[in-house]
Amino acid sequence: MWKKVLIANRGEIAVRIIRACREAGLQCVTVYSTADKTALHAEIADESVCIGPPSVQDSYLNMNALISACQNTGAEALHPGFGFLSESAEFAQLCIDNGITFIGPSPASISMLGDKARAKETMKAAGVPVIPGSDGAVTSVEEAKKIAAEIGYPVLVKASAGGGGRGIRRIDREDQLEEQMSVAKEEAKLFFGNDEVYLEKLIVGPHHVEIQIIADQMGNTVALGERDCSMQRRNQKVLEESPSPLMTPELRKAMQEAAVRAAKACGYYNAGTIEFLVDDDRNFYFMEMNTRIQVEHPVTEWVTGVDLVQTLLVAQGKPLPFTQDDIEVRGHAIECRINAENPEQGFRPSPGKIRSLHIPGGPGIRVDSAVYQGYTIPPYYDSMIAKLIVHAPTRSQAIMKMRWALAEFIVDGIDSNIDFQLRLIKNKDFEAGTYDNTFLEKFLADSKNDKDNGK
Ligand code: ADP
Ligand code: ADP
Ligand code: MG
Repeated sequence: MWKKVLIANRGEIAVRIIRACREAGLQCVTVYSTADKTALHAEIADESVCIGPPSVQDSYLNMNALISACQNTGAEALHPGFGFLSESAEFAQLCIDNGITFIGPSPASISMLGDKARAKETMKAAGVPVIPGSDGAVTSVEEAKKIAAEIGYPVLVKASAGGGGRGIRRIDREDQLEEQMSVAKEEAKLFFGNDEVYLEKLIVGPHHVEIQIIADQMGNTVALGERDCSMQRRNQKVLEESPSPLMTPELRKAMQEAAVRAAKACGYYNAGTIEFLVDDDRNFYFMEMNTRIQVEHPVTEWVTGVDLVQTLLVAQGKPLPFTQDDIEVRGHAIECRINAENPEQGFRPSPGKIRSLHIPGGPGIRVDSAVYQGYTIPPYYDSMIAKLIVHAPTRSQAIMKMRWALAEFIVDGIDSNIDFQLRLIKNKDFEAGTYDNTFLEKFLADSKNDKDNGK
């Protein structure tokens, strides 16, 4: 089998994969743009190759440069991480065509699930509950109006190729439809190079609850409990926890079964996440499937004890070393995403030099980070610089641990969202576990009003 893996990513996920490769006895090669010469993933790998200038188009999204880097270093496999090319069926196929193992699902699964409108149709046919909406893409405003009237306003128009919360627009009344549909199409075209959109009923006050699965190439598919990612700003996750505060044993069983059915319906192997919305009556609906390792995977690793970079084994064609019966969810884990940004100034990114850094530690505390003291964060990439994850026997103990870990965390020289995360963790609705996907936007609006009123 292969001995050397190329990691086609940067930041904390590249560092996470380097560590996993080392534990598996594999050599690791990383790639970097000229803006990332001193980045941690470039510094600590066995070998690192410059693949281009700062712009992602010319570096981390440059397929030919990545294939050449594999060929020049003798890497036999490639791990895409998340973001960048992780959900590109074209790139996965290009790796295979060049004799490089793509550590992920098959290109066919990626392209089927990456088309969110088509994925919903497949899931519906497999008996997985989906959010009411258009059957596939909608092309004309007239057709959209007809469907929206049938399912009832408010509705969302969503990009078929969407990701990262982009290309989603809310429509409350028919007279807004034409304009919002065109806005969503433009954004989708800009971000994903594909302006196809579909319609979905807006679930009011929903909870984002997703099921982690892992499947091998023999068809063994195991569900690893859920994560609650309802704490979102602009449809992007800010904080995640497992178990979900609204979970019951029956709901978990039903959602896990639906997730396994969803994965099997598309012959899926690799780690993957089936995202659902859950309403107040605990009805759940399939939203999309992410065909890669996810930012928030550590919370699942902690409550299940399963290392999700087992995908290295799956990609080698080996069977999973456990079955569903071996999986038990233990204790409670919470993750806070630590971003270089200023919450007081509309979450404006804050690149720059880290003058001093203190990372919390102790039992039940894990920090996956890509920064070090003296490191200069470049302005070109995602603002997430670290993830702080805690684990404790109960949710309230995990919250207490997270409070003190955040309070201890120091990143000086740049702005960060650490104090903002601390305010969220101390919030009464968070503590009570009653928050839903709309909580954070309301929290921000309330804080703004308090400030405007001089409170
Ligand atoms: P999750 O947080 O559930 O892992 P996200 O959708 O937030 O998933 O995406 C993870 C990372 O990938 C983020 O850095 C996000 O900005 C990026 N990302 C997700 N989808 C896309 C996409 N289609 N194009 C570019 N980047 C994406
Ligand atoms: P992306 O591919 O960008 O991650 P998703 O389809 O996963 O897009 O949706 C991102 C977020 O948008 C969800 O977690 C949820 O908060 C919100 N959302 C999406 N669809 C709906 C819906 N039908 N009703 C209410 N909220 C939704
Ligand atoms: Mg999503």
